[in-house]
Amino acid sequence: MTKPRIALYWCASCGGCEEAVLDMAEGLLRLTSSVDIVFWPAVMDTRYAELTDFPDGSIHASLINGAIQQEDHVHMARLLRRKSQFVIASGACAHLGGVIGLANLNRPEDILRRVYTGADTAVNPNGVIPGGSPDADISRPLKRVYPLDRIVAVDYYIPGCPPPPALIEKALTRLIENMPPDKGRVLAETQALCHFCPRKNSLPSGSLLISKFKRLHETCWDPSVCFLRQGLICLGPVTRGGCESRCISGNMPCRGCFGPLDAVTDQGGKALSFMAALMAADTEAQASAAVAAIPDIAGLCYRYSLAASVLEPIFSESS
Ligand code: SF4
Ligand code: SF4
Repeated sequence: MTKPRIALYWCASCGGCEEAVLDMAEGLLRLTSSVDIVFWPAVMDTRYAELTDFPDGSIHASLINGAIQQEDHVHMARLLRRKSQFVIASGACAHLGGVIGLANLNRPEDILRRVYTGADTAVNPNGVIPGGSPDADISRPLKRVYPLDRIVAVDYYIPGCPPPPALIEKALTRLIENMPPDKGRVLAETQALCHFCPRKNSLPSGSLLISKFKRLHETCWDPSVCFLRQGLICLGPVTRGGCESRCISGNMPCRGCFGPLDAVTDQGGKALSFMAALMAADTEAQASAAVAAIPDIAGLCYRYSLAASVLEPIFSESS
């Protein structure tokens, strides 16, 4: 009997999501015993020409990570969509644009100039910038970064930066065993991270008012007590659970990589409104002082979701 075909591909990715698949360890062996991995350029010697030769719809599932930032990402996403019955956006970058989506705070040409000629480590006496020649046969950056579903239809999302290997295995197993979840689902918990947090018993149950948000280096925090209770921003209340509380267990507050809950459209907007509700500020001046204590409000609230935000044009214009 022919095994279901699986493809894996990375677009604008740091490689962490590829490593998460490898971190499935024995799970990867279990997977490969029941599927044929036909395309995985980060790990296997598979060729573009082999992919184009597959009939449309003949790949069972394609797992795509990374944001869409270049012309070739658009091309590959469309090709894999055509070849696959299911497309899964894997990881925060494919899901919501991720950290790479923060590039939308700047123009692509300014980013290239900074990286290739302005950075302290750049040695580039002739000021050569990739794509500088209109004849160069290379993939060019798009004007902005997109989550995968702005380019092709996505059937499922596996959240996280990177996603826990167990979530990836569970998602692929369900598809291979022909038990697909409802289309469009984010394949993690439906409740917020606080619900699963080992520190949840110290999460303040009544109202909590914070006059100044502390930064991690400004305080000695108790590793057993809820970060919010200690005046440290933790986005657990506005972030989907299912991450195994990895950051909290490592004594770091949540920064939102699992994205928003189902009913929320704009994760950063929700985070801003949550933080505003916590501020002990009666006047505009007090509120401004509380916000001023946070050096990069867009980078905090939209660390993983700027490219999917409805407010992004406001941030982009003001940068
Ligand atoms: S989601 Fe995180 S780990 Fe995955 S590609 Fe993006 S930055 Fe890397
Ligand atoms: S706010 Fe953060 S530390 Fe507190 S219970 Fe929620 S996830 Fe845990």
